[in-house]
Amino acid sequence: MKVYISATLRSFFGRNNSIEVSKNTIKEMLEDLTDEYPESTKILYDDEKKLRQFIQIFVDGDNRTNSKYWDVEIPDNKEVLLLPAVAGGAPVNSIIPDERRKAVFFDDAEIERFGRHLLLKDIGVKGQKRIKAARVAVVGAGALGSPVIQYLAAAGVGTIKVIDFDEVKLENLQSQVIHTSRDLNRPKVASARDKIKNINRNIKIEAENIRLEADNIVSEIDGYDIVIDCTDNFKARYLINDACVLCNIPLVFGAIYQFEGQVGIFNLEGGPCYRCQFPEPPQAGLVPSCSEGGAISPLPGIIGSIQANEALKLILGIGEHLDGKLLIIDSLYLTSRILKIKKKTDCAVCTKDAKITRVEDFDYEDFCGLREVEEEIPIEGFTPEELTKRLESGEPITIVDVREPHERAILRFPNAIVIPIGQLSRRKNELNPEQDTVFICKEGKRSVLAINTLREAGYVGRMYNLKGGLDAMKDLIFPHEGAWL
Ligand SMILES: [Zn+2]
Repeated sequence: MKVYISATLRSFFGRNNSIEVSKNTIKEMLEDLTDEYPESTKILYDDEKKLRQFIQIFVDGDNRTNSKYWDVEIPDNKEVLLLPAVAGGAPVNSIIPDERRKAVFFDDAEIERFGRHLLLKDIGVKGQKRIKAARVAVVGAGALGSPVIQYLAAAGVGTIKVIDFDEVKLENLQSQVIHTSRDLNRPKVASARDKIKNINRNIKIEAENIRLEADNIVSEIDGYDIVIDCTDNFKARYLINDACVLCNIPLVFGAIYQFEGQVGIFNLEGGPCYRCQFPEPPQAGLVPSCSEGGAISPLPGIIGSIQANEALKLILGIGEHLDGKLLIIDSLYLTSRILKIKKKTDCAVCTKDAKITRVEDFDYEDFCGLREVEEEIPIEGFTPEELTKRLESGEPITIVDVREPHERAILRFPNAIVIPIGQLSRRKNELNPEQDTVFICKEGKRSVLAINTLREAGYVGRMYNLKGGLDAMKDLIFPHEGAWL
């Protein structure tokens, strides 16, 4: 039989993710595994040689952890899965103090509205009062914010603050289901406020149409019970994390990219923070953001719903949650795993001798590599208008498209040389150093990375960046409808 080993257990099994065992019962399989990997004995069994409680054994999706199944013969084609229980942490108390819960009352309509919650043993009237007493700040009213805000409102969270600085664009409607065609060009927070009002008029909504920065974040989130991070960029993530640590507010984190998403709870009662897991962001431009890399439409629905669910569990003080853990869901292959996050002893923000004691003193732009461009040798660039003029002038110019093949399939730039970023330094001979060369990508960030990469590789020709990328240029050069296919 083939035994699949969950990622968290692999270090005890020679880092294998699956092991072929020539036995056909669970009992023999376990004996075989512990013989072959003696290290695994201590993780599988307690001192009385009993299988530890958190170890689970599944055969074709059926739980066969109970030893009564261990002598049953398993057909050869069945898959056996060895994994630790999702459980781990002990359930916590509600983060809403009792005085605040006791100050809450319901009218008849609310009793009817929340009837399904009141029926649940783990929620009941007490729990529903906690939900109404809760004050939750949601940063980002986009893809993740859409399900988070709507479920919090439907569940009856008494005060919801929504913070965003953006307006609704057509491309947002693919995944940001809180907004509709009628909301185009409106501030996202205005659209979100209308939706919340439509769901439940009893909710106090605070809509803040601002961009969070180091000098305003503390006053925006201080006094809230939970902050939910629904943003899509590293600068915001670190800023939110640090402010939550300094204001002592638990943070429900969510992130999506293409088909994969992550959820976690940071900074709960002194637990690990986002920086403990990711001390530094990747180099600017190296990882496309969600807006550049894309994401399948329902993915934020899945991840955002889990964020809302985790927030409600914190409010209610029920179940086991993702405190100090990172849930990773791959929606393409329907797999998920939970990584345990340890508090980093030298974390820059959440330890006793932390470097960062005020967000105002930390340079988030610099930390996330967003200022790099100005600090090094400046990179010259064309605005879309300038490049259009230059192309029309007929003066020779080389255009290098550094986008990925699937991005080029959406919009092809005429007469461009195509070289993905990873191949640039070894293919630099294909460029003519005597001729001006313009680098293009979707948003004008990866093209800057391309120019820096070539400089490092010793390329000496004149290089220019297309400012704002093809997104900024598409209306100028491809004004007719249908060019985008
Ligand atoms: Zn930390």
